[in-house]
Amino acid sequence: MALDCYIDDLFYERASKVEGKPYKEFVFDDEKLLRIFPEDTDEEMLKWHWDEEDREVYPLHKTDWEFQFDNELPQQINSKLEIPKGVFHRLIKGTGELRVIVYKQK
Ligand SMILES: [Zn+2]
Repeated sequence: MALDCYIDDLFYERASKVEGKPYKEFVFDDEKLLRIFPEDTDEEMLKWHWDEEDREVYPLHKTDWEFQFDNELPQQINSKLEIPKGVFHRLIKGTGELRVIVYKQK
């Protein structure tokens, strides 16, 4: 699936803090959401975890934040990431904030 949405500043403004999570989020629908990890994200909050469904994650800008699967080296986030359900992974904090679109494959 291609990144088919234009993300207006409006959506960034409407993104809101998610209780107990390091990010802000704007939910478009069941399958698509905008997620923003702020510049002051506490790295302790970027835990290894796995998700309940396959996901595709698209960066919305150039970034030095990184992504890592269990037992793999960290990778740059410069194009689509495919994250299979049940597979451990984490984000590694970089410079500035990180803005991504997450597609949940249901
Ligand atoms: Zn995840």
